[in-house]
Amino acid sequence: MTAAGYDAFIITQPENRRYLSGFTGSAGALFITTDRQFLLTDSRYYEQVGRESPDWTLVKAGYRTAESLATLLESLGMTAATIAFEADHFTVAQFETWQSALPDTVTLEATTGFTAELRAIKTPAELDAIKRAQAVADAAMAHLFDWIQPGVTERDVAWEMEVYMRTHGATALSFDTIVATRANSALPHATPGDAVIGAGDVVLVDMGCVVDGYCSDMTRTFSLGEPKNPRYREVWQIVKNAMDAAQNGIRSGISSRAADALARDVIAAAGYGDNFGHSLGHGVGLAVHEMPPVSYARDTELRAGMVITIEPGIYLPGEFGVRLENMALVTDNGVEILTRSAVSLKSQV
Ligand code: ZN
Ligand code: ZN
Repeated sequence: MTAAGYDAFIITQPENRRYLSGFTGSAGALFITTDRQFLLTDSRYYEQVGRESPDWTLVKAGYRTAESLATLLESLGMTAATIAFEADHFTVAQFETWQSALPDTVTLEATTGFTAELRAIKTPAELDAIKRAQAVADAAMAHLFDWIQPGVTERDVAWEMEVYMRTHGATALSFDTIVATRANSALPHATPGDAVIGAGDVVLVDMGCVVDGYCSDMTRTFSLGEPKNPRYREVWQIVKNAMDAAQNGIRSGISSRAADALARDVIAAAGYGDNFGHSLGHGVGLAVHEMPPVSYARDTELRAGMVITIEPGIYLPGEFGVRLENMALVTDNGVEILTRSAVSLKSQV
């Protein structure tokens, strides 16, 4: 903060707020000076702050956060301060409310990425929570392979996965489970519907859950028994090879762009470069998509302690799509794959 010229920082983005303070409530603002830390929230959370954030000074702000901050600034003698806020979370309406509540001598300065960068490297406790979230998703995937049979719909599968994860330790889903069969699987973010999955059909399942605030995220594509579509085996194997290439090549120090290229080059060499539109992966933690990006469009350096996804895909509109996604911890020597589920071309019928 000092290097950036800020006297204080306001943190309102929920995951950043939780990361810095431990506070899990749905509303509140952190106010951080160079030597003090305050948590402003409303009466729903006064007791919770004491339990979760004992090192933070509670400011009972009610629903008047901006006005309470003005009072706090006056009591701290900070009426001419430069205060950073999170531009990627504040709305224009919020900004105007804060600006009109604070003295004209206070400067609000827009920043991005400050806390997100800190969150990219995981502590051992964070890594432990991520592994537990992934273990629940892995168990759900194993259950799916036992349970699925011809005649179930995409929506049936999504619900079965949700119930399994929520009854085996998950407090929430990382995102709505994606289940897509046949041509629907060519839509990278399909919504499960009433399509009935038959023997030999391609099924793509992308899912994850939350344990102790931390997310998991995984994708498997398989055919229900012997694949019907003659191109499926070949395309599935190319995606698998692309995933293996990335898993074998990523290590601390590689750029996001070079990591993405490890998989993309395999897919392009096989003639499917135009069918892999999205980036190779993303960071995972308190949010299911966070720093660092693993993308052809970004130069971010991947470093030991980051948790990323590796998720190449090939999508053939009107036919089917294949995506395989593992979570990986970046280390000095390579990656540790956190996803334990087998990578199978097909399930038993
Ligand atoms: Zn996913
Ligand atoms: Zn993902």
